[in-house]
Amino acid sequence: MPRILIIGGSFGGLGALKSIIKKGQNLTQQLDVTLVEPKLGILNILGIPKAVLDPEFAAESFVSFERANVYWDTFRLQEGMPFDTKKVLRSENGDNPHIGIFGEELKYNPNLKLHFIQGHVSELSDTVARVKIQKLDKGRLPDRYKPTNEAEEIAVDFDACIIASGRTRNWPLDPLSSTTEELKKEMTESADEIKRAKKTVIIGGGALGIELAGEIKHQFPEKEVTLIHPHSTLPPEPLIGERFKSHTLEFLQKLGVEVLLNTRIKAEHDGGVLETTDGRTLSGDLIFWCNYKRNNVSFLSKNFPSVFSANGDILVTHQFEMKKDDGKIIDNIFAVGDLADLPLVKTAGWAFRQGCQAGNNATELVLTGNKSSYETISQEFLHKGGMLLVVGMDQSICEDFQGELFVNDPEHIKMYKDYRLSSMFSTYGLTK
Ligand SMILES: Cc1cc2nc3c(=O)[nH]c(=O)nc-3n(C[C@H](O)[C@H](O)[C@H](O)COP(=O)(O)OP(=O)(O)OC[C@H]3O[C@@H](n4cnc5c(N)ncnc54)[C@H](O)[C@@H]3O)c2cc1C
Repeated sequence: MPRILIIGGSFGGLGALKSIIKKGQNLTQQLDVTLVEPKLGILNILGIPKAVLDPEFAAESFVSFERANVYWDTFRLQEGMPFDTKKVLRSENGDNPHIGIFGEELKYNPNLKLHFIQGHVSELSDTVARVKIQKLDKGRLPDRYKPTNEAEEIAVDFDACIIASGRTRNWPLDPLSSTTEELKKEMTESADEIKRAKKTVIIGGGALGIELAGEIKHQFPEKEVTLIHPHSTLPPEPLIGERFKSHTLEFLQKLGVEVLLNTRIKAEHDGGVLETTDGRTLSGDLIFWCNYKRNNVSFLSKNFPSVFSANGDILVTHQFEMKKDDGKIIDNIFAVGDLADLPLVKTAGWAFRQGCQAGNNATELVLTGNKSSYETISQEFLHKGGMLLVVGMDQSICEDFQGELFVNDPEHIKMYKDYRLSSMFSTYGLTK
């Protein structure tokens, strides 16, 4: 039976799953699909700047797979997970159509077998993945969250694989939790830290640093917030225009955020003391390192060390096949979303769309071996901007693909009151 493996179950991975189930509605031969993901649901990562200071909102931002209305032939959990597999197992749900994640009803076809493994891929070859049934160990994770048990490790064979394992940021901006309850607890800790701090320093003026500074100042106007950025404008997104950047700076300053441009931090010392590369000293009660992001690709390092561009993204063709730096294509491994080396602003929308296209291509490859029905990324969107930021809840700035600017558009402000969570429910067909 042909087998497809999807690594990562966020926007890119679920896009891939969607298109495979959609194609699989009319399958006349068997197809086996496995999704490996450490979380037991979908986290609306767009809302992280608010989730870290509002545990109730954080809990709402996590949609458990129990509510996703997608049914699996097997569902493998880590030990002791509070998760009701009856809600998601095909054997318990007859021939119910798949509704969740998709925003459209997709009929059940017993030829398509779906498997979920709650774990993470630790090593990949061109036919086998090693999967650890354990949480991820991420950058700057407090010791109390580090996994202590030895992980069980299993092998998953595949004919085609879609990598959608995205990026990791520092805790708490990339929470570790795999359930709603855990996330609420985790975000209560980060909210308490923010509430206790008189002065918060945020290092890195990318989208995350900007929105986090805006949220803290919006929720707690009395607190001091300093945003430190090494360049003369922000965010550091080369595809976005200068007017977008100057509006963003104005918004931050209007909210009362102290913005230190052209300032690079060399080291953090005890007691929240920060040393800059030009010899200045700054301090804060709470420091967020928002400049750190790392692609989740360590599983490629042993067998595919030369598939990376200079910035660490995975080299891909315009049909998402992974390729080596000498141009050689590895045609049964696809990569999508934040970690794919494509000239785009990295967004959830793009990750989902690329996932759908790679899902189509992987299915064509394993079922027909014919690449003529492959889907290709739309050339018209490459090398274009396309970004929306909210700075505090009442200010927004958007640049579309044509370079047109929208400042404080009422629709955008409304949509980002809950960081698009409401629209996510209908888009993905999830049960509230
Ligand atoms: C603060 C913030 C605000 C944003 N705002 C917007 C916005 O307004 N609009 C927008 O469109 N985009 C926004 N984005 C960007 C958007 O969130 C990303 O582009 C999107 O999440 C990328 O999706 P992805 O599937 O590629 O990766 P991710 O969402 O990073 O998902 C990767 C998944 O892979 C899993 N994983 C990691 N390692 C492994 C492994 N080894 N094995 C198995 N699974 C693994 C992770 O648990 C995770 O679920 C924002 C991002 C941030 C941080």
